[in-house]
Amino acid sequence: MARQNHVLDTPIEFLKGVGPVRAELLKKELQIFTFGDLLFHFPFRYVDRTQFNPIGSLHPQQQFAQVKGILTEKSVIGEGRSRRLSAWLRDGSGELELLWFQGLKWAEKNLTPGLTYIAFGRLSFFRGQFSISHPELARADDGAAIPFAGKMQPVYPSSEKLKSRHLDSRGLGKLIHTLLEQISESDVPEILPPDMVKRQALTARFAAFRQMHAPASESEGEQARKRFCFEELFIHQLRMARLHRHRQSRTPLCTLRSSGSLLQQFYQHQLPFSLTEAQKQVIREIIADMKSGRQMNRLLQGDVGSGKTIVALSAMLAVIGNGAQCALMVPTEVLAYQHYRNISQLTAGLNVSVGLLTASVKGAARRQVLEQAQKGDLHLLIGTHALLEESVRFHQLGLVVIDEQHRFGVAQRGRLWLHQAQPPHVLVMTATPIPRTLALTLYGDLDQSVIRELPPGRQPIVTAHRTDAHRLRIFSFLKSEIDRGRQAYVIYPLIEESEKLDLKYLMDGYEAISRAFPLPQYAVSIVHGRMRPEDREYEMQRFVKGQTQIMVATTVIEVGVDVPNATVMIIESAERFGLSQLHQLRGRVGRGAHKSYCILITPERISSEARSRISIMTQTTDGFRIAEEDLRLRGPGDLEGTRQSGMIEFRVANPLRDASLLEQARNEAVHLAQQDPDLMLPAHQALKHYLMHNEKRFGNWIRVS
Ligand code: ADP
Ligand code: MG
Repeated sequence: MARQNHVLDTPIEFLKGVGPVRAELLKKELQIFTFGDLLFHFPFRYVDRTQFNPIGSLHPQQQFAQVKGILTEKSVIGEGRSRRLSAWLRDGSGELELLWFQGLKWAEKNLTPGLTYIAFGRLSFFRGQFSISHPELARADDGAAIPFAGKMQPVYPSSEKLKSRHLDSRGLGKLIHTLLEQISESDVPEILPPDMVKRQALTARFAAFRQMHAPASESEGEQARKRFCFEELFIHQLRMARLHRHRQSRTPLCTLRSSGSLLQQFYQHQLPFSLTEAQKQVIREIIADMKSGRQMNRLLQGDVGSGKTIVALSAMLAVIGNGAQCALMVPTEVLAYQHYRNISQLTAGLNVSVGLLTASVKGAARRQVLEQAQKGDLHLLIGTHALLEESVRFHQLGLVVIDEQHRFGVAQRGRLWLHQAQPPHVLVMTATPIPRTLALTLYGDLDQSVIRELPPGRQPIVTAHRTDAHRLRIFSFLKSEIDRGRQAYVIYPLIEESEKLDLKYLMDGYEAISRAFPLPQYAVSIVHGRMRPEDREYEMQRFVKGQTQIMVATTVIEVGVDVPNATVMIIESAERFGLSQLHQLRGRVGRGAHKSYCILITPERISSEARSRISIMTQTTDGFRIAEEDLRLRGPGDLEGTRQSGMIEFRVANPLRDASLLEQARNEAVHLAQQDPDLMLPAHQALKHYLMHNEKRFGNWIRVS
């Protein structure tokens, strides 16, 4: 029978020693609302007090020390504010000073020279001498008088506000201790199937809570932590696996009967190049998925320039050929226009009607697009977030493609097909390569396809780091490339906080470049976020058509923009960009057969982190390697897309650090979801109950439905 975890759901104010004021603080500062939350407030490290430190082996960097020795002397020294009690403790290896500035009387009374004491505290090192001020102190024969003496002392995360209410690490420890005293195994039952616990050699759940908060040794604490990491990763992966199964049980609106004559026609008459093996393979995977009778939910990863657009278009043409509509959603207007232009051109003569919907499509044009989409006259609608608006309805939406997925927040994709009973297929594409561990965590509910090959004939991009002093030489290089018929981007940072300054910087740059590259011989375009979308599109168009040779822009062109004739990417103030941004920007060149260059300009002096980023950029063009370096430099929390994409917050686990545990958890989860999808077996009842009970906490886990 399902058992309710009543005790763990008890509001935190009901714990002895908490009360309303502290309860408010615990909620606000640590998101601790219930007994259960407190139980999961784990130490981030332990101070090992199972051992005594020989005084002779202390070192100046050591934070804390626990020593045992004979008290050799004590005396009150100094005057006024520096009046203090000094005592000396000696073990076989050396001597250490103990100091009291307050409570001198107490200390004097309790210190007897000749007796052996245990002292613990923060270590100071001054003029070659170690000391501890206000140590925790007890006679060696009364070690129990000091809490944690002989034990592993947990150190808990706290905050200044909590400390002011005596809820520092130790205060929190006391509360947790109180809680542990009052719960029993039936309150925190094992939730993992017994055979899994055995197979993975995990500490049992109840024991693990105790060992996490009060381990007998460092390794026991580690074992307990491993158990909770595994549990957390497993539960997450199980949800993903079940979600995946759930989707596969639905009937999609459009099941392909064949890949369709439309696609064949396209391949025979319109395709401007032959597909790479990687592209063919991925298209096959997608078509097979959409023929299977199950809803497709697939992530397509491919580095910048690997040719994802044509893959998406192939998939869409197959669906259109089978009588349904498609939507293509992109993060920026610039990209929406570009796809609209390209796809209209590529499908000219195929009798496919393509529409564009962005925030700047208004009035009659908007009404017409909306009406056509609803009637089914429009086969393919390309747009930005505007596609998610309530007014957008489709007659029969068969496939949704999301381009540059990492740029979207937690988009309510479901809104696209709110009004139809059967879901479309979903293909999400991203050019931000992520290591497998992160992919499993973020997109574990999706099938994955990867394009690992670039179209043939690409020459590696030469990347160089230059300082402001080189600008003249850079301009003359630029001139030589333009005189050969090539085009170039010059990118300026535009970051919100300093928008005005940056805008001026951009405009000054534009003027300098216009002066160096004067009309009528040259023409320069400019594009930034403050322009009206029509003007932006006009300027983009001039550049795309080759009417201008230089595009001065902000990062509005960062993702997706495709002008194969452009061979030079100059990035001003490159030290202000993140690695993945630099990689995306560089991806705007090297898209055709011409040799391409990326020049990163910075001031002479930059921070060491900026220097590492730039040096990685000059060393490699491999997106996967760059993503890994990015992770290493910034940690997963900051990785572009992880925050916004609604990655669940893990309490204990870190998918990157715990990569191998994640793989095991994944395997167990997939296996279990296959073996017992509805969790009917007796061994899975506790797990099932736990999942149902915690549904609310994991609430919004259906991200791509
Ligand atoms: P991304 O994966 O970054 O979205 P695109 O789809 O924009 O890449 O493709 C990059 C460039 O490569 C485009 O100019 C496209 O026309 C070209 N391209 C794509 N596939 C091939 C191919 N198989 N052979 C030659 N060029 C290709
Ligand atoms: Mg693209």
